[in-house]
Amino acid sequence: MSEVLVLVDHVDGAVRKPTLELLTLAKRLGAPAAVFIGASPDDAVAQLKKYGAEKVYVVDDAETKGYLVAPKAEVLAQLVEKTSPAAVLVVSTAEGKEIAGRLAIKTGSGLITDAVEIDDDGTTTQSVFAGSYTVKAKVTTGTPIITVKPNSATPQEGEGKGEVEQFAATISDSAKKAKIVASQPRKSSGRPELTEAAIVVSGGRGTGGDFEPIEGFADSLGAAVGASRAAVDSGWIPHAFQIGQTGKTVSPQLYVANGISGAIQHRAGMQTSKTIVAVNKDDEAPIFELVDFGVVGDLKTVLPAATEEITKR
Ligand code: FAD
Repeated sequence: MSEVLVLVDHVDGAVRKPTLELLTLAKRLGAPAAVFIGASPDDAVAQLKKYGAEKVYVVDDAETKGYLVAPKAEVLAQLVEKTSPAAVLVVSTAEGKEIAGRLAIKTGSGLITDAVEIDDDGTTTQSVFAGSYTVKAKVTTGTPIITVKPNSATPQEGEGKGEVEQFAATISDSAKKAKIVASQPRKSSGRPELTEAAIVVSGGRGTGGDFEPIEGFADSLGAAVGASRAAVDSGWIPHAFQIGQTGKTVSPQLYVANGISGAIQHRAGMQTSKTIVAVNKDDEAPIFELVDFGVVGDLKTVLPAATEEITKR
């Protein structure tokens, strides 16, 4: 069975959940082979194995440390040449998509970004043109390179062999032109990362600038907080929380839109969510065309009541 390379998304060796989702999807296409670029892979290898990695390629050398995306694309290109994999899967982060794009050029392969599903035959599902269409697509040239949105699959345990192979890549000088000179961890809000969260609760203009009901409800569910552009443009919440065409794209298990009308540009960032709920006082708000469950009401009364009920349980 051909290998399916999965680029491991990790922070100082701690594997992030979307990588485990990729391993689960990779099993449909072949034998999952994780590619870990960085130091201290021991805990990571154990976790990758637990979620089905048959092989773990470890690339831990000074050539890749402290650089941006270019060396990672070279590592993957060399592994593609060595292993002729059935596909390469990368998490759909800004970095992941840049690596995937560079890899596609280097290997002369087709690229699909922001997939939310991959079938056994490599056909992917994704939403395009700011969410106007949901399409099925398949790479027909070279090695399929696919970036997959977080939350597209539920990680499934299934012991793989987890055979470790050190891989010494040759990194060109041109890939080392940009180096990270300083980095500072972001202050944690204690809530999950927006693009990776299983539940997102967002607020729009209908909050009137008071995000307390949104945050309270989000915390009762262990959810991330998001916002519409109207809320961001009003200065109520930073742009990092914006969901939509000019903000972040999320695809959680549950998305709760509060006081958000459902403009096409907002939909572009959330319409692949598995279950969508809206709270809006206007029963003709366009968001109701999209939802699985809708509550017609004032968010300022609905959300505190829901928060109280959930907290009681
Ligand atoms: P509104 O459209 O004003 O809707 C507010 C809703 O709240 C209404 O439906 C109202 O009935 C309801 N409401 C009011 N009070 C309450 C209450 N007390 N309880 C319950 N409901 C209440 N938008 C994005 O979100 N993300 C983007 O990335 C984005 N990118 C854009 C890019 C471009 C190029 C353009 C042109 C626009 C973009 N927009 C984006 C803006 C988008 O078109 C909408 O203007 C925006 O999404 C509207 O935000 P909203 O739904 O919060 O506000």
